[in-house]
Amino acid sequence: MLTQAIKGVKDILPSDSAKWQRLEKTVRDLFSDYGFSEIRTPIIEHTVLFARSIGATSDIVEKEMYAFKDQGGDEITLRPEGTAGVVRAYTEHKLFASQPVTKVYYMGPMFRRERPQAGRLRQFHQIGVEAIGVSEPGIDVDVLAALTELFTRLDVHGVELHINSLGCRDCRALYKAALKDFLTRKIDSLCPDCQRRVDTNPLRALDCKSERCKAATSDAPMMSEYIDDNCRAHFESVKQGLDDLGIKYVVNPRMVRGLDYYTRTTFEMIAVDKKGAQNAVAAGGRYDGLVEEIGGPPTPGIGFAIGVERLLMMLPEAGKGASNPMVYIAAIGGEAERFGQKLANNLRKSGISAERDYSPGGLKNQMKKADRSGASLTVIIGEEEIASGAAILRDMKTREQSEVKLDKLAEEIRTRAKSL
Ligand code: ATP
Ligand code: MG
Repeated sequence: MLTQAIKGVKDILPSDSAKWQRLEKTVRDLFSDYGFSEIRTPIIEHTVLFARSIGATSDIVEKEMYAFKDQGGDEITLRPEGTAGVVRAYTEHKLFASQPVTKVYYMGPMFRRERPQAGRLRQFHQIGVEAIGVSEPGIDVDVLAALTELFTRLDVHGVELHINSLGCRDCRALYKAALKDFLTRKIDSLCPDCQRRVDTNPLRALDCKSERCKAATSDAPMMSEYIDDNCRAHFESVKQGLDDLGIKYVVNPRMVRGLDYYTRTTFEMIAVDKKGAQNAVAAGGRYDGLVEEIGGPPTPGIGFAIGVERLLMMLPEAGKGASNPMVYIAAIGGEAERFGQKLANNLRKSGISAERDYSPGGLKNQMKKADRSGASLTVIIGEEEIASGAAILRDMKTREQSEVKLDKLAEEIRTRAKSL
């Protein structure tokens, strides 16, 4: 127990972090190009925020939240997703007062108590955007363009953008009633969860992962048959906008998403060569009623969240593990060690990564460590070198060695580092 992390929770080790950093850098550059600024909201929020926004009868709120009473008796939850917190912050800080549209992105850990499996963790990470304040379809297109461009920049292929419209509060009420009728007739074929939720939340049956529900709902009525004129026009404009930008998509009328706050445009980025429940790499949609639902002014919004672990599984190998030092300093003897410590500090201050042995053995031993460190250059320095005022500089790839004056060493390394 003491030496084992909690089930479904993973360490990101130094050998993996280069991949994460590459992804994060690409994302930051891209979101900045598309006009999104970073927002960092707390990992804990009041439980009621999630119950109200994601929906009390959603899987997340019913079964998956890490909710607890803190020492002061407050009901707290580790965030299972990012939108609720962003919308809370937007409302709390009245961001609507300063700009007509608020475009933000976030990245960080999310928590859901699900059954752990490949691509399904209890602490996982999402990268997401929210664009709050615009109801026009142009923003839907921009958000989808940013999502698509991210996959292009990361060189990830084999994904398909699936889109659908869930209509607005009005037309969805009609659809819900029709779906409820349909499901009531099929009630015995549904899984126990969906049977229980037929009255309160019939849409969940269409998002259910159980084979029983998938089969039972194969001929269920579709939202597209109930969508009203305004919602239909909005959806048509989104599709037109995507066509204009040359963004490919598949209209998937069955897609309803698992969170209750979605309205109108909804979408998923699906990994086409992966079957089963873990194929959605990213997902999102409009949430035109959400700001008002939690107590803000009526404000439309749209966003998406990417599952970072699932996306990383699709990234082409970066081929680089933990970062290697540029220079290794092998120092033998007290005076040489002191020189080595100063040299390392000197190099690091000018932006050159330097490593050395803190309990140095003999030369052979230190050269072995220099090799293992992956350094490009090694400085070799002992009593003799200190006395003669020149150290040996070894190129670890070509194995060429040269003598460099001690007072010129840092400069020489800087010059060589530039051409490496
Ligand atoms: P799924 O249908 O796979 O359960 P979801 O609909 O619950 O996904 P969202 O809540 O929309 O997912 O979250 C957006 C993305 O976050 C998902 O597409 C997925 O990539 C990722 N994600 C969701 N839950 C997990 C998890 N438990 N572990 C890892 N990634 C996850
Ligand atoms: Mg889920």
